[in-house]
Amino acid sequence: MNNQQFQTPIEYLKGVGLARAEVLKKELQIYNFEDLLRHFPYKYIDRTRFYKIKDIQPDMPYVQVLARVTHKELLGEKHTKRLIVQAKDDTGFIELAWFQGIKWVEKMLVPGKVYVIFGKPGFFNGKTQMSHPEMELYNPGAQQQKGNLTLQPAYNSTEKLKQFTLDSKGLQKLIAGLLEQTARDIHENLPTYILNRFKLAGRQESYRNIHFPNDANQLKEARYRLKFEELFFLQLKLLKNKLSRTQKFKGNVFDKVGHYFNEFYHDKLPFPLTNAQKRVLKEIRTDTQRGVQMNRLLQGDVGSGKTVVALMSMLIAIDNGFQACIMAPTEILANQHYQTIKDLVGDGFIEVALLTGSVPAKARRAIHEKLENGTLNILIGTHALIEDKVQYKNLGMVVIDEQHRFGVEQRAKLWRKNIVPPHVLVMTATPIPRTLAMTMYGDLDISIIDELPAGRKPIQTVHFFEAQRLRMFGFMKQEIAKGRQIYVVYPLIQESEKLDLKNLQDGTEVMAREFPLPQYRISIVHGKLKAAEKEFEMQRFIKGETQIMVATTVIEVGVNVPNASVMIIENAERFGLSQLHQLRGRVGRGADQSFCILMSKEKLSNDGRIRLNTMVKTNNGFEIAEIDMQLRGPGNIEGTQQSGVLDLKVADLTTDQDILQQARNCVIEIFEKDPQLAAPENQILNLAFQAKNAGLSWDKIS
Ligand code: ADP
Ligand code: MG
Repeated sequence: MNNQQFQTPIEYLKGVGLARAEVLKKELQIYNFEDLLRHFPYKYIDRTRFYKIKDIQPDMPYVQVLARVTHKELLGEKHTKRLIVQAKDDTGFIELAWFQGIKWVEKMLVPGKVYVIFGKPGFFNGKTQMSHPEMELYNPGAQQQKGNLTLQPAYNSTEKLKQFTLDSKGLQKLIAGLLEQTARDIHENLPTYILNRFKLAGRQESYRNIHFPNDANQLKEARYRLKFEELFFLQLKLLKNKLSRTQKFKGNVFDKVGHYFNEFYHDKLPFPLTNAQKRVLKEIRTDTQRGVQMNRLLQGDVGSGKTVVALMSMLIAIDNGFQACIMAPTEILANQHYQTIKDLVGDGFIEVALLTGSVPAKARRAIHEKLENGTLNILIGTHALIEDKVQYKNLGMVVIDEQHRFGVEQRAKLWRKNIVPPHVLVMTATPIPRTLAMTMYGDLDISIIDELPAGRKPIQTVHFFEAQRLRMFGFMKQEIAKGRQIYVVYPLIQESEKLDLKNLQDGTEVMAREFPLPQYRISIVHGKLKAAEKEFEMQRFIKGETQIMVATTVIEVGVNVPNASVMIIENAERFGLSQLHQLRGRVGRGADQSFCILMSKEKLSNDGRIRLNTMVKTNNGFEIAEIDMQLRGPGNIEGTQQSGVLDLKVADLTTDQDILQQARNCVIEIFEKDPQLAAPENQILNLAFQAKNAGLSWDKIS
């Protein structure tokens, strides 16, 4: 048999057949042999020891007990019919109960005999009990060979599958059979020097042992090996992409820092740069002068000063005779960038224009003209920037803000905007855990601004329940009296848009009563407003004509009103951590002490409580991102969908940081020495790569 056998449709496996194949495909996406082999246990049940009855706690997972059945009794009628069995060891009694299959169990169990009892303890009528345990007559001699004293794999199954006797046990049987038939053909795909260096178990052995480990150590080794392999090949793919991109595309050479950069730096920049900003500028500077296209991700918390870094990078482009653009995900944000940049550069220094969907045709034509003749230096806008009719004379640098809202495809469109593709700087204010960054953006270089401008006072965050609302109102009045402005934000979640809108309306009414005209003025902004209305309301707040802005999450990104120093988040328990953090980042931008008040109902889910506590505890976006990932799993973090993160079967980005780092470093080293994977010892990797190019997936067994 050759390795094609792993692609064999699952119906051809002994014991499967058409009907079961159908449900396997539907329920577990198991289409072929390989998919089944890669249906790994989600946990293992420890059958390596017997528990004493007195040590059993109701909250324990599955346990194994050796006990003598002393008594059995059928109770109840029809629907309440049940079999209750007493068993004892030398430490105490345990009650066992059956509600189904009673007859058979009743017949099989013989009082006076000792059984291996295996099940999940529970608590019932004040007693420790097990319902529907597995019972096996104890046979000291046979115990060992029957393999009972091992870790039993438990597989995910579904109700549907169970109807086809494919519960965990059923799946286990199929997998055992499949392994027996094919294990010999699971070939090694890592070079020996890597196996040795990282002390990795062999591939075949690892596949066996992850399903059927003899002991905890074997399992550990198997998992380590398979995790390493998985992460290694993902990194190989990402870094190979990066390598071929740098080989394929030349980059514009920005070999000088000239008038624009220098004049801005010396005469216009209103504050000293932070060390982090300087470091990142250096990284960008180095990248853009070596003749290779830059693809850099700039991560920095809200308020860390990414915009200035972007602007100064663009000034370098302009110094070298190129144009630059900033692409933002929303008009509000594009607008904000436009204002910020205009304010920073002042009049008559460079030509900056804003291009969004709401720019009238005539103005738009003027912009196009200036872009094409090269008199426009910086264009700021939304998706409109990359429409085909937008032609640049010489686009050298593209800044993309809030990247994960832009698809890969949209980014690719930019490549075509010049013969030599522009340098790309992707900015995100959503810090991503390190492991995620290495996987999602593994083919990008990463810069981090991990320092806030000096003199910023950390935002103080409190969590209030509904009962403390009056206190909140009092606090608001006190801050408004000091001349500050306040945001009040309501959730806006697609599925319950109506409800949210109602919350917003009710909330606004309460606010309007509490903060009456003419003393107080309120702006209201939500997604149902027309762009012009929204803009009007925003402007009133920005100009300080209103003191309170009641809004849905449309203000999440981009609004910059330094005088707004209080952020109130209603129904805070309904927001995700990163969103809460983003919202909070709207304040704390001026010199004043800023505050964030998280309002929630009394009853919180466990996760909800952790989220709110985390917010109260820390302002550090990277720390928050880590906790967010632990709560939701890497697959639910925004932007991970197309990144391959979801394809991970054994590795877990929340716990396998070290393995990931090892694997990535290893790949980097390999490419440094042998970029073509041409060395004999790397043949094996090269083959794996070709398999991929032939349309097979990365983790293929063959
Ligand atoms: P980000 O885009 O990273 O959230 P911004 O670039 O909007 O942050 O910067 C936030 C605010 O901090 C802006 O008002 C900006 O002018 C200011 N700022 C940026 N860098 C510095 C610095 N080094 N020192 C003082 N203020 C700064
Ligand atoms: Mg910003």
